[in-house]
Amino acid sequence: MPILNRAAEMQKEVAEWRRHLHRNPELNFDLFTTSAFVADKLREFGCDEVVTGIAKTGVVGIINGRLGSGPTLGMRADMDALPIRETSGVEHTSQNAGAMHACGHDGHTSMLLGAAKYLAETRNFAGRVAVIFQPAEEGGGGGNVMVQEGMMERFGIERVYGMHNEPGLPVGQFATRTGPIMASTAEFTITVRGKGGHAAFPHQTVDPIVIMSQIVGAMQTVVSRSADPLDALVVSVTKFHAGDAYNVIPETAEIAGTVRTLRKDVAALAEKRIRTIVSRIAEAGDAVAEIDYDANYPVTFNHADETAFAVAVAREVAGEPNVEDDMPAVMGGEDFSYMLEARPGSFIFIGNGDTANLHHPAYDFNDEAIPHGISYWVRLAEKSLAA
Ligand SMILES: [Zn+2]
Ligand SMILES: [Zn+2]
Repeated sequence: MPILNRAAEMQKEVAEWRRHLHRNPELNFDLFTTSAFVADKLREFGCDEVVTGIAKTGVVGIINGRLGSGPTLGMRADMDALPIRETSGVEHTSQNAGAMHACGHDGHTSMLLGAAKYLAETRNFAGRVAVIFQPAEEGGGGGNVMVQEGMMERFGIERVYGMHNEPGLPVGQFATRTGPIMASTAEFTITVRGKGGHAAFPHQTVDPIVIMSQIVGAMQTVVSRSADPLDALVVSVTKFHAGDAYNVIPETAEIAGTVRTLRKDVAALAEKRIRTIVSRIAEAGDAVAEIDYDANYPVTFNHADETAFAVAVAREVAGEPNVEDDMPAVMGGEDFSYMLEARPGSFIFIGNGDTANLHHPAYDFNDEAIPHGISYWVRLAEKSLAA
């Protein structure tokens, strides 16, 4: 079965919703107009329950099937934008300067709304569908907050699925994998406090720039000499700030960066090695180091049975050769990881075609993907909750 006729018919309407959301991006947990738009649509479709205010602006809609009772299936989209100034030049460009839907969450929200509309019209399943719209995916952990607030128990959600668009993957194609599909993330800030002074008298100072340079160099060995070469690990220093003058050795130097892995034990190893390297090199240089290390999103881990099921559904919609079931893992992080820690489920990528990359100021979600995304969600619900 290719994409559903009804989903193809809905494309224009859903693309209009998508463009409306794209014009009006909001950030983090403050998705007041976005979540009101979503909740209004869900009520208009005749959802049996529409609950707002979960994790501040999260929304859950419940649709009961007409084929009897059964389990509750969770299907999740994210709604937040990014603090980026848009340069796409599209007609529906952001009207909110400094905010932009550069990750396609406008598309994710619209496709799940389209599926909700279809499912509320047809109700060709036994049990219930919970459509989950979360805030603060781009940092802030809105999905985690929804789980912490008891969403899974409250709605009796037994399995949960997520979807993200992927630039570079052709429209009409899907890709996923069993096991870790996206990385755990951690952010660190390190400050080295030395002793400032005149650059002509370095021996009377403790130069934090030299010490911090050694730390940055030594941190490269966490991946190359501490971790197993077969385990994925990224340690990136992305900020290095110190000093203001040609002739002054500053008092402090500061770096910051990110650590990403696909396994908990590798994440723990990286943190331990970074703490040791920083404190011992600082000590050797007679300086003092402060380390602020925040473990952030966990690994997004796709459960085996649910991933096999998602692949079968995607193949039904897209055709056998258009679904990659063993893609390489991606070292980006994803807040859906918390929902997959709470319930079995699976995360899949949907092709966005040849567009600018995610988080790029010229990115735009590809509306051609809409019928494919809606068809996936609808068939996932109908197949998973078959009478
Ligand atoms: Zn993103
Ligand atoms: Zn995203």
